[in-house]
Amino acid sequence: MYDVLIVGGGLAGLINAIQLSKAGIKVGVIEKNEYPFHRVCGEYISNETLPFLQSIGFNPFSFGAVSIKRFWLTAPKGTELKMDLDLGGFGLSRYVLDEKLYELAVKNGADFYLKTTVQSIEKEGDIFICKTATTGDLYAKIVIQAHGKRSNLDKERRFFKQRSPYLGVKYHLKTDFPDDMIALHNFKDGYCGISRIEDGKYCLCYLTTRENLKTYGTIEAMEENVLKKNLFLKTILNQAEFLYESPKVINEISFSPKALIENDILMCGDSAGMIAPLCGNGMAMAIHSGKILSDLLIQHFDKQIDTHQLHQKYLQTWGRHFRFRLSLGRTVQQFFGNPLMTEMFVQFFKHNPFMAAQVVKQTHGKIF
Ligand SMILES: Cc1cc2nc3c(=O)[nH]c(=O)nc-3n(C[C@H](O)[C@H](O)[C@H](O)COP(=O)(O)OP(=O)(O)OC[C@H]3O[C@@H](n4cnc5c(N)ncnc54)[C@H](O)[C@@H]3O)c2cc1C
Repeated sequence: MYDVLIVGGGLAGLINAIQLSKAGIKVGVIEKNEYPFHRVCGEYISNETLPFLQSIGFNPFSFGAVSIKRFWLTAPKGTELKMDLDLGGFGLSRYVLDEKLYELAVKNGADFYLKTTVQSIEKEGDIFICKTATTGDLYAKIVIQAHGKRSNLDKERRFFKQRSPYLGVKYHLKTDFPDDMIALHNFKDGYCGISRIEDGKYCLCYLTTRENLKTYGTIEAMEENVLKKNLFLKTILNQAEFLYESPKVINEISFSPKALIENDILMCGDSAGMIAPLCGNGMAMAIHSGKILSDLLIQHFDKQIDTHQLHQKYLQTWGRHFRFRLSLGRTVQQFFGNPLMTEMFVQFFKHNPFMAAQVVKQTHGKIF
């Protein structure tokens, strides 16, 4: 019997595991993969997370993270804008980041069930049962679903039934590009981020629509006919040394609203709501929501707040930090991908650097 079982060992799940196990709470994490593994993600992490990460004994720069301080935005036709980032961030692959956080959670005493998929979650009285095919049933007083943007466990949730048009593609590559810059190159129906990670490598990750892929049939043909219309992207895609045999791809990325608590199960990270990468830093939000939830759970196990108060406080605190950002993100996401609109945005920001700085500021949260 666990105090807390966490479904999903991504950033939200790992932060909960690290904090709760450190507080002496008996925690189990069920993760369908085995560390280390690659994920589709731009791998630029906002500096808002640094004080908290350092407070739990995690210094990303010890594992090769690279500081990123400048931003470069381009429109498909080549209009460009370069600016300094106010808060900035760092680049580190999820391959390294998640593995090192996992090691920290294990060191703190958390149990891990790897290569184990939760098939369903049931409740008998006050006890939750996580059903798995490989490990059998696991029992807990509290369950956190930190299973990311889309999972087999979402089948009954409302957003799952609406098809989402977005897909994400990621590569690791070696190329000639500034170390301290993140670029956002726009193309028809999508945008592509490039920034440094550890060991002299770069992460190139883009978001586009299923329709775009359907029109050209293959990723290669789509890149040739659409992404490379942006000459900055063309240069990178033509000259880079690609480090994977094939790209990592995910589809059905949904930015729709989701419930925060369902059947008394607490959602955390992307499973509670995902922000479009253009409009915010989902990793920082996953880490921050993990901190918020684990802080409240520690109070709950310390008998300072009961279950009702735990739920109310989580709803309030999560809403205060993320609800506005997520709804703004959903609105802005709709405008991008239209080459004319992107051109207008880049032109406008080029001539209004103060406004550009304010908008970029909105994509980064406050330091926590
Ligand atoms: C194209 C793209 C680019 C992005 N770029 C950036 C970026 O540059 N910067 C940034 O800050 N954010 C970025 N994001 C967002 C970021 O990746 C997510 O917000 C973040 O990973 C969310 O963390 P999480 O812990 O909620 O979920 P995840 O990190 O997705 O972890 C969920 C875990 O749950 C596991 N799981 C799922 N179902 C089950 C199950 N049934 N049983 C057991 N395990 C299960 C999965 O294997 C996974 O390990 C990007 C997203 C996309 C799509």
